[in-house]
Amino acid sequence: MSKLFDQIKIGLDESLEEQLQWLDPGFGTYRVLKKSIDARTSTPHWVYRVETYGPNEKPETQEFSLAKIKAQLAHKPIIVGAGPAGLFTALRLVERGISCVLFEQGSVAPERMKAIAAYWRYGNLSSTNNVCFGEGGAGLYSDGKLITRIKSPHIPYVLNRLVKFGAPEEIQYLSNPHVGSDKIRKVIPPLREFLKSQGCEIHFDTPVKKVLFKGNKTTGVLLQDGRSFSSDRVILCTGHSAIGILEELAKDSVFIEGKSFAIGLRIEHPQKDINQIQYKTYAEHPALGAANYRLAAHDKKTGVGVYSFCMCPGGYVISSGTEADGIVSNGMSNYKRNSPYANAAIVVSVDHQQSFGNDAFAGLKLRKELEQKAKAEVTAQGGTKQMPSQSVLGFLNMKNAPLMATSSPSGIVPARLDKLLPVDITKNLVQALERFNRSMPGFISQKAQLIGVETRTSCPVRVTRDPESYQSITHSGLYPAGEGAGYAGGITSAAVDGVRIAEAIVSECE
Ligand SMILES: Cc1cc2nc3c(=O)[nH]c(=O)nc-3n(C[C@H](O)[C@H](O)[C@H](O)COP(=O)(O)OP(=O)(O)OC[C@H]3O[C@@H](n4cnc5c(N)ncnc54)[C@H](O)[C@@H]3O)c2cc1C
Repeated sequence: MSKLFDQIKIGLDESLEEQLQWLDPGFGTYRVLKKSIDARTSTPHWVYRVETYGPNEKPETQEFSLAKIKAQLAHKPIIVGAGPAGLFTALRLVERGISCVLFEQGSVAPERMKAIAAYWRYGNLSSTNNVCFGEGGAGLYSDGKLITRIKSPHIPYVLNRLVKFGAPEEIQYLSNPHVGSDKIRKVIPPLREFLKSQGCEIHFDTPVKKVLFKGNKTTGVLLQDGRSFSSDRVILCTGHSAIGILEELAKDSVFIEGKSFAIGLRIEHPQKDINQIQYKTYAEHPALGAANYRLAAHDKKTGVGVYSFCMCPGGYVISSGTEADGIVSNGMSNYKRNSPYANAAIVVSVDHQQSFGNDAFAGLKLRKELEQKAKAEVTAQGGTKQMPSQSVLGFLNMKNAPLMATSSPSGIVPARLDKLLPVDITKNLVQALERFNRSMPGFISQKAQLIGVETRTSCPVRVTRDPESYQSITHSGLYPAGEGAGYAGGITSAAVDGVRIAEAIVSECE
């Protein structure tokens, strides 16, 4: 019989196994379910949740064996987009016995990675292979944090399959799983080969121009190259950066609504400084990894929230736009989180209804405008591939100030980010930074700088779907899925959304 021990406190130099001998003498094996650092006291310590097993026992892992159905479909379901949502829709469909067709505008991961390197090195942005587009979607160049706020019975299945295709096993039981960009990239090729072997027909380098409808029924897709493919089921998994296909849907009167989102800047500190703030005298302790933080401020009067997002300890700030005339910042890290920098987005919430009323595409327009301003600023400073940046002190004092070194592979150029953002956003960021500095003294420092613009934290529109059938509320056979449709916000939640859609299709076919 396994035994569960929660809140086990272990000093940085103490041994967990020794402690377990006290708690469960003669235990055979154990697994760590949760490990966090408590740095609030003067002596930081680990806090563990552990399951122990008897000498002849083994931790159980669920296999999630799925029953295949015998479906007689006139046409295979079509999936658009090979990000986490599209790949997991395809995976679940084939595992349930339904063949499908997947179109991805970008290339297979290795080709895509060459294009990203060329962008960061020379500034040549490919419109189909970049940090958001190509096999693996935005997830492939992400920070690889797999934590999600959603609750779903499909989460363990998603994590199990990621492990099956090469992710570290620990993601199945750690409460704060992180794979890093380097490890997530290794998962994608075996997943692709498995899909192909199970009857998923994959077309890379094949952008879909639009979904085809007859009246309000889905009939297939039209590709950018003029070919069309028929199907009465199209699953749209195009992510938060594919605007063209959303505009096409709007032309066909598919119901799309505006959605609240957040915009701001990315802040970068030397990781040592964040370790110092969080771990104090223990900052250099070899047992402690790169420290992280989570910050939030909420103005009760205005309802505006400012918060840290996608914090990447030991990470890199990366240029992650998809259009040549715009610049977007984001962050990533590798599994070991060992770059000498820490970064996080600091973003301000934008309430869609309050800011734009019923103009569904207004958030997207604002986003584009800011990204273009960022690019224009870089060009004005003589830059080509760099991102605009301002020291935190320069931003707070609204003046030019020298920049420091950065983790960004494409570099930075000086810019007045305080002037580039809308006045209200700048004001909210200034107030929040001052507040954050009170809860984390040293957060505002001479060595901290801001890099812009952080505009793609989520999708500012939603292709509204029926909660039961998962189909568009206006067009049957269209299944909006993942982050681009406004139904997910991260790798795990997008993958889970794909599984939900696949299961909805399975139950229609059973
Ligand atoms: C730099 C970065 C770091 C991130 N870090 C994290 C993190 O640590 N943890 C986390 O949970 N999330 C992170 N995210 C967010 C996460 O990656 C996304 O939430 C997730 O990938 C969304 O999945 P999706 O499948 O809905 O869309 P996407 O991953 O965006 O995939 C959409 C796919 O559709 C394709 N496509 C678009 N239009 C067409 C078309 N017309 N025809 C054919 N194909 C098309 C695109 O090329 C793309 O491959 C990060 C994102 C970025 C950019």
